[in-house]
Parts: sequence; C-alpha cells; structure tokens
Amino acid sequence: MAADPDHSPLDGGTPIRFDVDVAPPADGSTRARAGRMTLPHGVVETPQFMPVGTNATVKALSPDDLREAGATIILGNTYHLYLRPGHERIARLGGLHEFMAWDRPILTDSGGFQVVSMDELRKIDDDGVTFQSHLDGSYHRFTPEVSIAVQEALGADIAVAFDQPVRPASSTREQVAEASARTNRWAERSLRAHSRPDQALFGIVQGGLDPELRAESTRFMTSLPFDGICIGGLAGDETPAQREAALDVAVGLLQDDPRPRYLMGLGSPADLLEAVHRGVDLFDSVLRARVARNGQVWVPGGRLNMRNAQFVEDRRPVQESCRCLLCRNFSRAYLSHLFRAEELLAYRLATCHNMTFTLDFMAEIRVALRTGTFSDRLPGLRAWALLSGARASPVQPE
Ligand SMILES: [Zn+2]
Repeated sequence: MAADPDHSPLDGGTPIRFDVDVAPPADGSTRARAGRMTLPHGVVETPQFMPVGTNATVKALSPDDLREAGATIILGNTYHLYLRPGHERIARLGGLHEFMAWDRPILTDSGGFQVVSMDELRKIDDDGVTFQSHLDGSYHRFTPEVSIAVQEALGADIAVAFDQPVRPASSTREQVAEASARTNRWAERSLRAHSRPDQALFGIVQGGLDPELRAESTRFMTSLPFDGICIGGLAGDETPAQREAALDVAVGLLQDDPRPRYLMGLGSPADLLEAVHRGVDLFDSVLRARVARNGQVWVPGGRLNMRNAQFVEDRRPVQESCRCLLCRNFSRAYLSHLFRAEELLAYRLATCHNMTFTLDFMAEIRVALRTGTFSDRLPGLRAWALLSGARASPVQPE
C-alpha cells in the first residue's frame, strides 16, 4: 500500500522524523534513550527490534501474526528480492508494502552484506561488486546506483546506502581500511543516486574493531546528509567485548547527532540489551526464526529445547506469562509433538513465541527508559535476557 499523503503521519514533505523523548541521564550511567521514529507508513517507538522478512515474508509468520507479536517495522532483503521475484516485478505489483500486504514501515538493506559475504562467488572493485546468484549461478552486478534503484523500486520507508562490510575480527587492518574507504565513496554515490522523496536513506559506518578506523568512518558518515546512521561490520566473528568497545567508539562520536542509530544484524536478547545500554536505537536479526526452526524457544532467563524428552507430557505453556499464539492455546507437550512429527505449525508457533518474547522484552526496556528506571532495572533485565548463560553464535547471512 502506498503511503497516503492525506493520512501521512509526517508533514512538510520529509520522509522521516526522529524525536528523542527521553535522553540519556546526565550522570553517564547509560547511553540508552527512548524515542519515536515517524515514517510514511507509521510511527516506530525506539529502542526497537525489526523482524527480518528475507523473501518478502518473515519466515513462517503472516502479517497478522507479526502485528499480534507487536512488530511495528520489518526489514526486507534487497539482494533476495532483486534476484527473486525481481524489484521491477514488485514495483509493477504496487511495491513491497502492497506485494506482501504489510502496511506498516519497512526498511530495506543495501544488499552489500549478502553479496560481499559470498567469498567464492563475488569480485569487488572500486565501482561495485560482481556476484553469482545463489539460486542459479547467473552473474549480476551491484553498484551503489543499482542498489539504490532496486530499493527505490521496492519502495520501503527506509533505504540503506551500499557498503562493503568485512569480518570484524579476522580481517587485517589494511582490509578494514580499504573497505571503509570504499564504503565512504559508495555512501556519497548512494546519496547522489537517491531521489525518492518519500523514502529515508541511512548511511553505514564501517571501520571494523580498530578504534581509529571506526572513529574515522563514523566522522565521515555523520558529515553526510543521511537520515539515520547504521553501525555495520559488527555482529560477526567478534567477541561481545570487542563489539561493545567498537560501539563505544562510534556512539561516543554520535552523542550530539540527532539521527537514529541502527546496529545491523544483532542478535540475542542479551546482545540487544547491552547495545541499547550503549546508545543503539534499532536492531534486526534472523536469529529468532533460526532457533525456532531448531526447536528452541526463549523464556526469561533461559531457553527450552522442545525436542528434549522432558516435554512430551508437559501440560504447561512454554511461558506462563506470555500472550503469544503458542502460549495462549497450546502446551509444551503439543509443541514437542509437532516438532517430532515435523509438522509445519511447529515453526509458526515457535517463531510467534520467540518474536513476541523479543518484542515484549524491547517494550519492557522502553518502559524502563520512559519511567527513568533503566539503570536500576539493568541487572533484572540482564537476568531476563540470559539464555542459559549462552551468547548467540554469529549468524551467517541467509
Ligand atoms: Zn509465548
């Protein structure tokens, strides 16, 4: 559905407005903040998690399931939609909102992460990336201009500049420096190529784990007239401590910047909480659907593997206090049976639960921020987010 100009929540012809309602406290105990991002298709409260709709669907969930879980914005993957069904076809069918029957905000990524991650199947030069389709091996080329044209055809509320991410921990300083410099040039080209007035455009900070390179990239990206700042090149093979150090460098330089901050590709509830604490507003990750496919459901302070024998006659819901489709209606025993029988409903129910768990957790964080209790509640929120003490392993691109 195209944004209706008569009912747009925005005025003045801008594609985005970001208001920080609760700024971080002056005592420096946290950089966390609460805000609202107003877009052509609606308002998104921050901090916020964006479910990933890789192929114009969040795996196993209908738009109604997503709305019920509390999703206010989702992410679409430019690389996947370009290859299949094709951005021009989606544009002819009314754009991504209408195509997938999702009338709330959408952000599309640039495709950079997917095409650059294909070690064997791509070649990078200063102008762009040539890659082979994972579907049929055919050759394609993405440049900043192509990525922006594809995203304008898809018509999301927010597009993202084309970038070259590198693996944070296993890349040399030279590789990181080269990729960051290229990302800077591609950011300027993305801005020049972007012309859709009803679509915001975010730039991506790179710079790996090196504080100097991360700072340089942050300074450059914030000097450009983007509508928001993505922090890229993390949520890869780095440790949580390395990630948090890189985040502190980037967000430290964004203190007085009025734009929303989006950490790409992270992850588990514990990771989200620590990044919110360090000043991040937006997140996305495919982890929820992936762990649900493996039979894992998240509960406060731990996770349950529904394939374990202990649940086959367990009459309790997965999580007593949960409002989701699964917990309202079904027992652990039933979900355990569905997984054993490999019934498709298992994936829908488990994903509904993990998505609701995450979005409710983010809502709880926002309540704590808006009531000024975030720092006091941090230990309790950390315990809630702990999945049996395990941090999520790095997530590979879909
Ligand atoms: Zn539930």
